[in-house]
Amino acid sequence: LFAGPCDFLKGVVAMDGMPPADRLEVCFAGRSNVGKSSLINALTGRKSLARASNTPGRTQEINFFELGLPENSTERYLVDLPGYGYANAPIPVVEKWQRLLKQYLSGRPNLRRAFVLIDARHGVKPVDEEIMSLLDSSAVTFQCVLTKADKVKEKDRASILDQVRGKLAKHPAAYPELILTSSEKGDGIETLRATIATLT
Ligand code: GDP
Repeated sequence: LFAGPCDFLKGVVAMDGMPPADRLEVCFAGRSNVGKSSLINALTGRKSLARASNTPGRTQEINFFELGLPENSTERYLVDLPGYGYANAPIPVVEKWQRLLKQYLSGRPNLRRAFVLIDARHGVKPVDEEIMSLLDSSAVTFQCVLTKADKVKEKDRASILDQVRGKLAKHPAAYPELILTSSEKGDGIETLRATIATLT
């Protein structure tokens, strides 16, 4: 689906560094280590595109990627938000990024959907709910993407999906459909791509 090039555009630390809101965009949020870089790489078909966002110094930046799409469709930005939930992050760093995150979520009229990544083994954690509440108050529709599905036994999947659905019921901005993915095996990647490509 993303036939064209997909390139890292820039990492920004302030609103005035953001590219013009001249095309639709989607953003990805998740706890550190949830598998966000792996998912973005699987999605874009690039092996290490999102690696940049995981290198020290880059972790507090909002990273913009340009998604190449098939002919006759409009381009999109894919936005990689900094991973949250670092146990040892200094408070000023956390506060600075929360401020930027809030500004970003309420300041991008072209932002069509946030994908909140949830580790399929662990389900929704309190820190994920904080982000969901922020998305609610920013009126940004969000959809949960479960990662590392290959690490969950078939028989355990239904109860995890139920747990996530139960949590989502409390969030007005939640889009009810879940996407179960494995960057390792490729499960759900096409579904996610198609979801992004068909947003209007
Ligand atoms: P990030 O911190 O959210 O960007 O997470 P990474 O993409 O760096 O992944 C964190 C760890 O989870 C790495 O060791 C990955 O190899 C592993 N991982 C990521 N996605 C998957 C997956 O779909 N399946 C499995 N089994 N491991 C994964």
